[in-house]
Amino acid sequence: MPYLTQLANVARRTGQPVTEVAGWQSRGHGPQPEVQGVVCHHTAGPAAGGDYPSLAVVRDGRPGLSGPLSQFGLGRSGHIYVIAAGRCWHNAPSTSPRHANSSSLGIEAENDGSQPWPQEQLDAYRRLCAELCREFGLPASRVKAHREVNTAKPDPHSIDMTEFRAAVAALVAGAPGPSWMKEIMKELPMIRPGDDNHDVKTVRGCLFARGHVPPAAYSGVQNGLEGWLTSTRCDDGLVELVRGFQRAEGIDDDGLIGPRTWAPLLRV
Ligand SMILES: [Zn+2]
Repeated sequence: MPYLTQLANVARRTGQPVTEVAGWQSRGHGPQPEVQGVVCHHTAGPAAGGDYPSLAVVRDGRPGLSGPLSQFGLGRSGHIYVIAAGRCWHNAPSTSPRHANSSSLGIEAENDGSQPWPQEQLDAYRRLCAELCREFGLPASRVKAHREVNTAKPDPHSIDMTEFRAAVAALVAGAPGPSWMKEIMKELPMIRPGDDNHDVKTVRGCLFARGHVPPAAYSGVQNGLEGWLTSTRCDDGLVELVRGFQRAEGIDDDGLIGPRTWAPLLRV
């Protein structure tokens, strides 16, 4: 295998913010020979000091162990740092041949070794593992805690790896996690009366599918229902239907289509 220059794109597929650390594409102790597993770590870095204070250590190493130490860093906020594309010194000796430096990728998540894990960091941790499993064709069972493949290590502390792998497996299988709606919402715009864009068609389609579009709404429209459904304008007639939908859902009938209205429109 060459240097794994696709890793930044893999990280971005999680939907998390990603920083490509300068020089990452050619950083490594030689190229990565193969990827048969993923090893999860905590940095044992400082308890404070921002999102990812261990970046310099993971990139450059520490006395007695030269960097890079891991391909990925994971900040407290769930921000992913892509640090290296080649082999890293994150697990030696390994009790599992599939989780040695030459056969696995490492993720160093910021944590001092005892502080609680923020939920957003845990969510991102699972997503990154899931995307790596997808990219390299691995089952979730290949995601291991460092402590599972190196008995001298404690990390990552307090994460139940059976639960963690079950969540990764669900993500790999495409099952929506609890935060999937939140992720979709981030991508959807606020639509106001008078707006003209393609997302308006989505609103029309959702309202129709939910039975909130009476025939009178489209009887005078050119091409009837089809013409109504494909109009990109948020006109007065549509705003009135949105208000009716909002009242039926028990939310503010302001006619604005923001996160509170998108959620019931898209609910499955
Ligand atoms: Zn470790």
